[in-house]
Amino acid sequence: MACESAARPALSWLLALSLLACAGAAWAAKPHQHGVATLQIAVDPGHVSVRLDIPLDNLLGFERAPRNDAERERAQAVVAQLRKGAELFRIDAAAGCTLQRTVLRSAELGLPDAAAAPGRSEHADLEADYEFSCRDSHKAGAVSLGLFDAFARLQRIEVQALTPRGQLRAVLQRPNSRVALAR
Ligand SMILES: [Zn+2]
Repeated sequence: MACESAARPALSWLLALSLLACAGAAWAAKPHQHGVATLQIAVDPGHVSVRLDIPLDNLLGFERAPRNDAERERAQAVVAQLRKGAELFRIDAAAGCTLQRTVLRSAELGLPDAAAAPGRSEHADLEADYEFSCRDSHKAGAVSLGLFDAFARLQRIEVQALTPRGQLRAVLQRPNSRVALAR
């Protein structure tokens, strides 16, 4: 995740997400912990952007490329689940959000846009970006997460959000899956 991307001309939601990423760099840079995912949410006029960073172990129970048919099948099922962004991130209906774009990155799973080659360490994460366009993004008072339902090994989600009202942090423990964006 490149902090300098904030200096490039960018759509404001992207800029917000980049700034958020830099602000939380120390937090995000710590070694990943199995059972824990980090989530960054940026609310901007007309958009809600979500970035999920999750250890592959939480998704698959291993952190390398799949080695046999059973593992490949498991990986495919996980990827299919991760593409259902509208189910994983249920934004307040009043905001009128629709999922526009999903980008999944994992070198181990052979997903495009992966920044690094696989096998550089014994740990591996999957990074996912979701971009929603919203009729009334200021009405996005909460996001209900489907992540605990989808991924049984996931226990905790560390959330940072940047909204027009300010920045907030929250830690969700299973089964609490609601992120309040308005205080
Ligand atoms: Zn790991």
